[in-house]
Amino acid sequence: MPQRIAVIPGDGIGVEVTWAARQVLDAVTRKHGVPFTYDEYDWSCQRYAAAGEMMPADAIERLRPYDAILLGAVGWPGVPDHVSLWGLLIPIRRAFRQYVNLRPIRVFEGVRSPLRDAGPEVDFVVIRENVEGEYSEIGGRLNRGFPDEFAVQESVFTRPGVTRIARFAFELAATRRSHVTSATKSNGIVHTLPFWDEVVAEVAGEFPGVRTQSEHIDALAAKVVLDPGRFDVIVASNLFGDILSDLAAAVAGSIGIAPSANLDPTRTHPSMFEPVHGSAPDIAGQGIANPVGAVWSAALMLEHLGHPAAAADVMAAVEATLAAPETRTRDLGGTADTAAVVSSLVAHLG
Ligand code: ATP
Ligand code: MG
Repeated sequence: MPQRIAVIPGDGIGVEVTWAARQVLDAVTRKHGVPFTYDEYDWSCQRYAAAGEMMPADAIERLRPYDAILLGAVGWPGVPDHVSLWGLLIPIRRAFRQYVNLRPIRVFEGVRSPLRDAGPEVDFVVIRENVEGEYSEIGGRLNRGFPDEFAVQESVFTRPGVTRIARFAFELAATRRSHVTSATKSNGIVHTLPFWDEVVAEVAGEFPGVRTQSEHIDALAAKVVLDPGRFDVIVASNLFGDILSDLAAAVAGSIGIAPSANLDPTRTHPSMFEPVHGSAPDIAGQGIANPVGAVWSAALMLEHLGHPAAAADVMAAVEATLAAPETRTRDLGGTADTAAVVSSLVAHLG
């Protein structure tokens, strides 16, 4: 039975980089004899402008039978961010219990990191808790407009929620360099983060072969900049993970390279794979977007769907393509367009 992929190209360069990822997937799945079928959905801000909704009311039910979702980017000037977020991304993440947000960071040969001296020794993964923590809707505002007006927002950290994200991080570290760094701030945030630390320490006890380190988020952010080569797997709450993963993607040299996976590790529901970047209206329609973030996201999908050899082939093609100056896009200081990068990737997979 072929595995079924739902493709949502979305807006702007989302469409261009999703096309690129499809070309690469077609080449690598042909080579490895992996049967995939694809259905494309035009859910986007353009659809919102025409129909008043990002996706139809039964979108979640339509996506449910798929093995994975490949997403480009959603968002467009004139459509408020909360529309694309709450009209598409968040409902999908929540409905499908995609409680892990996984973002690998590497500095490739040929790509200049803004950090002096950062090179291929930089190779780590940020694991962000994706469904609870600081991003809750619990709270409110009182005394609006009065001098004593105030706002309160609660964070929610649950034992099952912290346990499963920590366990995911430790299991991943055990397949890599066996080192987990846990982001905390238990000196200033005195209820939730000490609880996070406790649960992470309990899970660490299940993995005696994995070294664990707990770092306050402020010091950790500084170390990601000063010494990114020291990290293997970083596990963080929703807010800390959000900030750290954008910082880390910048360290890698271009947002155009950075991939992400929204995972339901239980595989009960489809997981979703998308580049970190947005729709980039400033360069949309010009055919010059860097497709590597989307292609790397597709490699994460191959890995998740049980095709590690195909995933490794895609990453080898990415490495070779980035190493050659003539197949680097403008964001990396090159002159190649999206199609030239795709040709190179496909040729390396040939
Ligand atoms: P969003 O709100 O959806 O995150 P944004 O405007 O904050 O969107 P991006 O769309 O990611 O962020 O764009 C940020 C900058 O990075 C823009 O100048 C854009 O052109 C550039 N950029 C983003 N992705 C790519 C890419 N794949 N290739 C080249 N440049 C890119
Ligand atoms: Mg943005």
